[in-house]
Amino acid sequence: MNKVKKGKLFIISAPSGAGKSSLINEILKRGKGSGSLIELSVSATTRLPRPNDEEGKDYFFISDDKFKDLSSEAAFLESATVHGNSYGTLKNYVDSKLDAGVNLILDIDVQGFEQISKKNIQNTSIFIIPPSIDELKSRLVNRNEDSHDVIEARLKNAITELAGANNYDFKVLNDNFDEAADELYNLIVNRQTQNHEAKHILQILEDLLSN
Ligand code: 5GP
Repeated sequence: MNKVKKGKLFIISAPSGAGKSSLINEILKRGKGSGSLIELSVSATTRLPRPNDEEGKDYFFISDDKFKDLSSEAAFLESATVHGNSYGTLKNYVDSKLDAGVNLILDIDVQGFEQISKKNIQNTSIFIIPPSIDELKSRLVNRNEDSHDVIEARLKNAITELAGANNYDFKVLNDNFDEAADELYNLIVNRQTQNHEAKHILQILEDLLSN
């Protein structure tokens, strides 16, 4: 992994409900429109597919045994248990995409980011911050996917994830979707921040953590 790659690696994390998936989809759409080669890495997971999930597009859905086998073969660049399911980034998949010049986004959690940080792998890391805990809660409730208990567990997990945000290269506040998408796209395509409100974002992060 130390040789020079043609594509760049981006790590994007956020607590669930922060709007990460919608933002990433918007970035992929803009990338296609402008001819930039940006793709989302497809991870392996043991979680069951949701109704709209597509094998090989959203995830490679595999059994617990298969996951253990891949783990013991060191096939994962990083792996983690998130909300009770195993997830892992496939090393060969990432290598072949980067070698092909693809700018690859890893949508992974804080544990995965920490593992990659410890390895000598060049990347740009971005953490998406929700505007408030109330907003996070209402997004989780409104998407109508999870039971009350699951939402409470996700909120608890959100606080733990937010505590890791300061270790990321960039923080993007998602209180206005278009502005957040502009910032994220600019970071990925131009590797520049337009963020003139860094202090404001840090204050929001501090407020979220003191709740
Ligand atoms: P979901 O099951 O809702 O698609 O994803 C749940 C969480 O797992 C998200 O926070 C997502 O970032 C994280 N995740 C997805 N794939 C991976 C992976 O390969 N590695 C790690 N560490 N986290 C992942």
